[in-house]
Amino acid sequence: MASTMVAAVFQGDGRLSIIERPVPFITPADVLIEVEACGVCGTDIHVLEVPPAHPAFPGVIMGHEFVGIVRAVGPDAIGVEIGQRVAVAANLSCGSCSSCKRGNPNHCEHFTTMGIFRDGGLARFVAAPASACHVVSKDIPREIAALTEPLSCVVNGVEQAHLLPGEAVAVIGAGPVGLLFLSLFRAAGAGLVVVVEPTELRRDAAKRMGADVCLDPSQGDPARAVRDVTSGAGADVVVDAVGDQLSQALSAVRVGGRVLLFGMNSRAWPSIHQYDITRNELTVVGAYVGSNVFPKAARILASGLVDLSPMISHRVSLEDLPSALDAIRQGKAVKVVVDLMAGS
Ligand SMILES: [Zn+2]
Ligand SMILES: [Zn+2]
Repeated sequence: MASTMVAAVFQGDGRLSIIERPVPFITPADVLIEVEACGVCGTDIHVLEVPPAHPAFPGVIMGHEFVGIVRAVGPDAIGVEIGQRVAVAANLSCGSCSSCKRGNPNHCEHFTTMGIFRDGGLARFVAAPASACHVVSKDIPREIAALTEPLSCVVNGVEQAHLLPGEAVAVIGAGPVGLLFLSLFRAAGAGLVVVVEPTELRRDAAKRMGADVCLDPSQGDPARAVRDVTSGAGADVVVDAVGDQLSQALSAVRVGGRVLLFGMNSRAWPSIHQYDITRNELTVVGAYVGSNVFPKAARILASGLVDLSPMISHRVSLEDLPSALDAIRQGKAVKVVVDLMAGS
């Protein structure tokens, strides 16, 4: 095996370089994974902003949405075998802090993320703790299998929404996360799925992924439009997949309905009419990463119940990643997946 590999390395100050790095060594509890594909997340774009909108360690290999084949296992790596295909839960919890012991590893006091604070999957090889690896079917195309990580977070959100068959859902924001919500709600039996999204490219993807109604918020009040298509009632469930849409969500949800807050924007302080929550007996719930959701996401992908292919607008080689990042920044991409097997 070669001793070096090409990797996408965060250099600080918004810079990303495609450079040679040593193939990683594995510690006893790690496995070495040959990466097949790795998705690009909005968080990666935030890391590369100046000033950064999300912290990361300079020098780290980026990429936290990846799938690959296990090529080596450490002597203490349990539950994973050479040759298996795994997706990695890139948010690593310590297992020892009070949050972990309380059963909330997604709120671990020592939470760290591969691709942000330690080397991730935008390289030919990555070392990952065996405990974070989840076997996924080899029948799933690699660019789809790479979506296991974001899908797992959305599975957590869908669980919090307690959707019943036939209910009406409104998803605000049709970026990759909003599209995953749309797809899961559809598969879970939603009767009507409305998407609110200003970008035509993303509305088109939403249409192809089964949205019944796609609203452009620049063409009128979307909350009123949601009411119009729900006989005046409002949606049973409204998801904010953006991070600053609570006020809109409260206007679009029916009396007694649920508002799920998933998108995150630490700078947003939306002004809301608290009275509506009380008077209309609304449930407002937040969802963050989730616990034990990876196996569920892997099973959903293996089931064939959802077709996520319409959301992948760019499948690129590692060398073409910088131009694909520009496409995301310019609103010309939906989901970018880097194919690490391209040309091999
Ligand atoms: Zn992410
Ligand atoms: Zn912990």
